[in-house]
Amino acid sequence: MTGTNFPSNYVEILPEVRAFLQSDLKLHIGGRWLPPISGAAFETFDPSTGRLLAHAPSAQADDVDAAVRAARATFDSGAWHLKLTPSERGRLIWRLAELIEAHAPVLAQLDALDNGKPVTKAQNVDVPLSAEHFRYYAGWTTKIEGATIPVSTSGMFNYTVREPVGVCGLIVPWNYPLLMAAWKIAPALAAGNCIILKPAEQTPLSALYLARLFEEAGFPPGVFNVLTGYGETAGAALVAHPGVNKIGFTGSASVARTILRNSADTLKRVSLELGGKSPNIIFADADMEQAVVGATWAIFGNNGQSCTAGSRLYIQRSIFERVLTGMSDQAAKIRVGMGMQKDQPDLGPVVSQEQLSTVLGYIEDGRGSGGETVIGGQRIGGSLSNGYFIEPTIFTQVQDSMKIAREEIFGPVVCAMPFDDADDVLRRANETPYGLAAGLWTRDLQTAHRFAARMQAGTIWVNTWGDTDAASPFGGYKQSGHGREMGKEAIDLYSEVKSVWIRVG
Ligand code: ADP
Repeated sequence: MTGTNFPSNYVEILPEVRAFLQSDLKLHIGGRWLPPISGAAFETFDPSTGRLLAHAPSAQADDVDAAVRAARATFDSGAWHLKLTPSERGRLIWRLAELIEAHAPVLAQLDALDNGKPVTKAQNVDVPLSAEHFRYYAGWTTKIEGATIPVSTSGMFNYTVREPVGVCGLIVPWNYPLLMAAWKIAPALAAGNCIILKPAEQTPLSALYLARLFEEAGFPPGVFNVLTGYGETAGAALVAHPGVNKIGFTGSASVARTILRNSADTLKRVSLELGGKSPNIIFADADMEQAVVGATWAIFGNNGQSCTAGSRLYIQRSIFERVLTGMSDQAAKIRVGMGMQKDQPDLGPVVSQEQLSTVLGYIEDGRGSGGETVIGGQRIGGSLSNGYFIEPTIFTQVQDSMKIAREEIFGPVVCAMPFDDADDVLRRANETPYGLAAGLWTRDLQTAHRFAARMQAGTIWVNTWGDTDAASPFGGYKQSGHGREMGKEAIDLYSEVKSVWIRVG
């Protein structure tokens, strides 16, 4: 049984989406749709209502083994990276981007239903960015070059080539289901790998739909496989499997530690894009309106469920009250509602009951430690009481040492803290185990460059927040990850370098 009755205030559910939800969802392995060997399934819910959406196949270790064998067989046959020319591979990836665009309304509804985000955001942001990612990497297939190396051994010619790593297990989270998958799949494909995608158990739907588009595009069977299932079963089996050459993971630091431990026996390559507690600093000379709006959306965008959420806000003391008032006004205007409702909200619910409890737990802890909420701080009830809705929340009276200022909350909660001195705020900003992103708002060029140079994070935003581009590398310092996605860096991340020596003398 699947959820086919939707609230009357929902936009019309597309017939393709309805049919998909009612279909017997299967794993995609070696170009075929297969039920899990155990027959196990798990439920996926609409976080806006708490209602059941669909049963997704729950892959176990034997399914993982089947998928790895299929991906391995395709890789070893060279059907993808050797028998097709780089240009042919690029065309297929480009074709996939076109299909993603053509199916944008369906993909957007699936992510909006599964994750809770407003469907217009999924349609206008997540899906086009995903398509763009594939387009960007379609262009890379013909540009993955080696080098000729001037070695100092006489009579020797030495050159390098870049080769695919092999079979890549890509494990992604639920905050941007399609987009996070695209960030990994596109460069892995361009570099010539075969892929097994493991979407998050909270949001399995768009990944399965994507497999249909791979079929329609005409990729060789086994290049792209999808295993839906739990992290502790399907994810863990993928990580431990000796036939997997590389794991690309986006998610929490605690799961990343487990993955590193579980990958030790096979010493497979692992790249990690993890969380953050990103500092966002507003100087008194900043364009006030720009900074207030920017800092508001730095945290509340996607409900704070972004690894780059600007969750530690440092405001120069002379403007502290002004910024706080401005942000509270902005936050009060944010319309929270069901992701699929006709009158589209700015924000939806958080993704699950578990996430709701986690975020509310942090809010309680913040209050218990002396923090004060100037706005928000409650679960939203009334007509939204069946979903997992939380008010956008701003805390003051926060010390850097408090749990809410140190740990990633992954919800719509920001800690606003005053600062007096630039050197002092720089030290405080860097005093975190994380280093994914950092930002500052100032009109002073010297301050901008000094902070850009000294803040320890993979991405620095000055007078802006949240920009990413398929061409620009993205990843974390410190405990925010290993490796860089996007740009040329992601091609390096999904390939090996081979050095070839030839005696010519
Ligand atoms: P979040 O904390 O944001 O829910 P997680 O880090 O828990 O994110 O999950 C991100 C992805 O990692 C999901 O696809 C999840 O199923 C997967 N995962 C969770 N635990 C493991 C594990 N032990 N091994 C491999 N993958 C896992």
